Amino acid sequence: MKKEKIAIIGSGPGGYVAAIRASQLGADVTVIEEEAIGGTCLNHGCIPTKSLLASAELFNSLKEAEEFGVCAGEIKADFAKMMERKSRVVDNLSDGIKMIFKKRGIKLINGRGALISPGRIRVVSSLGVEEVNASKILITTGSKPTALPSLDFKQPGILSSKDTLSLERLPKSILIIGGGAIGLEFACFFNALGTSVTIVEMMDQLLPNEDKRISRQMAQILKKRGIKILLKTRVKDIVSQSNEGVTCLLENGDEVSAEKLILSIGRKPNSQGMGLEDIGVHIDKRGSISVNNKMETNVTGIYAAGDVTGGMLLAHVASAEGIIAVENALGIASQIDYSTIPRCVYTFPEIASVGQTTDEALISGKKIKTGRFPFSASGKALIMDQTVGSVHLVVEERTDRIIGGQIIGPHATELIHEIALAIRSGITAKELSVTIHAHPSLSESIMEAAHSVYKKAIHIL
Ligand code: FAD
Repeated sequence: MKKEKIAIIGSGPGGYVAAIRASQLGADVTVIEEEAIGGTCLNHGCIPTKSLLASAELFNSLKEAEEFGVCAGEIKADFAKMMERKSRVVDNLSDGIKMIFKKRGIKLINGRGALISPGRIRVVSSLGVEEVNASKILITTGSKPTALPSLDFKQPGILSSKDTLSLERLPKSILIIGGGAIGLEFACFFNALGTSVTIVEMMDQLLPNEDKRISRQMAQILKKRGIKILLKTRVKDIVSQSNEGVTCLLENGDEVSAEKLILSIGRKPNSQGMGLEDIGVHIDKRGSISVNNKMETNVTGIYAAGDVTGGMLLAHVASAEGIIAVENALGIASQIDYSTIPRCVYTFPEIASVGQTTDEALISGKKIKTGRFPFSASGKALIMDQTVGSVHLVVEERTDRIIGGQIIGPHATELIHEIALAIRSGITAKELSVTIHAHPSLSESIMEAAHSVYKKAIHIL
């Protein structure tokens, strides 16, 4: 039987995961990538940032080692070695994807792809120009960082997240514009290593999409560590800049200076210059490719997934969408479900949430009950000496079903998946509370939060 031909432009978590699923489903798959395999996530996003955070976390833990009866001697952070390790982790994972592609016979072309017509792609590379033909095309070209009129990444001292990940020297001071997940993760990393950090955020809270209480608590934790946070503050202009330092004028008239400035105010879809408008693919005002819940664009045979379609700019969302896209392209009817997407911030402590927050549930008109359990009452958290934070559950009053959960505290980004599964499976707070959890474990805090919905938590009054 003749294999269906699929071409995928972009090899980030949207594209490469889709390629593997399409190949598992028997398609003849070609992936076109202009930079490194793995996209933003693997090369300049999720993986390198978390690798650096793992180094910083270990450094922090070693500073506390004596508390655990461990004498570690003189502790020193070696920024260059942390960066080297980060690159090794990235290389390791990218070799893994290349090996899977090879074993599966997925063709990888290194070049820039643009559509000539539905079914035809022109690829420009250092080797010249070639044409790729495929009955189905998936666009997973991701996103790029947004700049400001007064600040752009070509100016000296102004860094994108990608530039930050290739710094050769630890800066003495950093000014971070944007208090979202990326900004806060960099803030924690540099603060742990002794860099003086200032965060400027135009909204009235850090992590503007997160639960207000959690974001307030995070702000307090960061301030206690010496990080300066300026909320409801905008940058108006640059006063001076060079490779030695940057000074910004804020809208309130104050000036802030730092050796480096990280601009992390959001990302915009990579949908330009690919001939999409010419062949009639609908792109919205923000530049995102419009898709339905099967990841189909308005042009038959052309699908899009990941950051380029807007929505939640997360790697696991891109991968899930990529899988849905190729399944539909290969005749398997599947639809994306956004109701249980975990949102994780890998700060110290971590923050993770899924489903609705209390405010979102109330705004949507639902009557709710809530549960809460602090890690200060958890045996395992005390053993780990990480007692800051808590688990929150949002429960629909009428059905007793769990509809949301937020965690701030140790391993929040791992723990959140139990709540995600509970929401997806329609589990009630009662059912969660009677599910016996191992002791001592951090997961017990989720069970206790479910008990607390009925004022029956064991370890709190
Ligand atoms: P991308 O990963 O951006 O991949 C798109 C690929 O397409 C790129 O390789 C690009 O070179 C290629 N491309 C673009 N145009 C063309 C063309 N015309 N021809 C050929 N190739 C092309 N998300 C999380 O879930 N967890 C995290 O912890 C996390 N941390 C992050 C940290 C940082 C600093 C950043 C910047 C992002 C982070 N993200 C995180 C977001 C995550 O990286 C993205 O959501 C994810 O990479 C999107 O995947 P994608 O496949 O849509 O696009």
